[in-house]
Amino acid sequence: MLTVNEIFYSIQGESTRSGEPCIFIRLTACNLRCTYCDTAYAFYDGKKMSIQEILKEIQKFNCKTVEVTGGEPLLQEEVYPLMDILVDNFYAVLLETSGSILINKVNSKVIKIIDFKTPSSHMAHHNLWENLNHLNTQDEIKFVVGDRSDYEWSKSVITQYGLATRCHKVLLSAIHKELSPGILGEWIRKDSLPVKLQVQLHKYLNMP
Ligand code: SF4
Repeated sequence: MLTVNEIFYSIQGESTRSGEPCIFIRLTACNLRCTYCDTAYAFYDGKKMSIQEILKEIQKFNCKTVEVTGGEPLLQEEVYPLMDILVDNFYAVLLETSGSILINKVNSKVIKIIDFKTPSSHMAHHNLWENLNHLNTQDEIKFVVGDRSDYEWSKSVITQYGLATRCHKVLLSAIHKELSPGILGEWIRKDSLPVKLQVQLHKYLNMP
């Protein structure tokens, strides 16, 4: 059984699939406590569901893209067979994970979006850089940037690890209401940083 905080159908707000319809399976619990977390409601509350019950629930929606998210979805051991079954049922599966847990057991067909933590989250010491060895070419790395020092830190990590060539896309996202996406975009432009500016689209949509 998995503990599921919520299942809903909406528009993808992040990643290179931003703007596309997507089903979200939000699993309960997180091992981190980021300063800017907007899903603290997923730390504890949830309903026990079997993989078959989850599958039945998502089949109500006319959509073949599903994101497994949290909290931190990799904390629950049954998330691995869940992702396998979603892949077997011909879903395009996205996994949003914090990068603090090893991703080596994730089905290779799952698109992993690793949200490595920047300093202003106060959780950057949890980043497991070993995860870079388990990336596929379709995977994405995201940095949520709250200020100039987060940006400088992200830039040095991108350069140090050659991230632009290790995955499909590196995404830089401004923390909503803390940093203007326009300012972040200007920093990226001036540095010709090989990343994609991401706007947290779901914050601008009046949707679930
Ligand atoms: S990893 Fe995600 S869910 Fe967990 S505290 Fe950080 S922002 Fe919130």
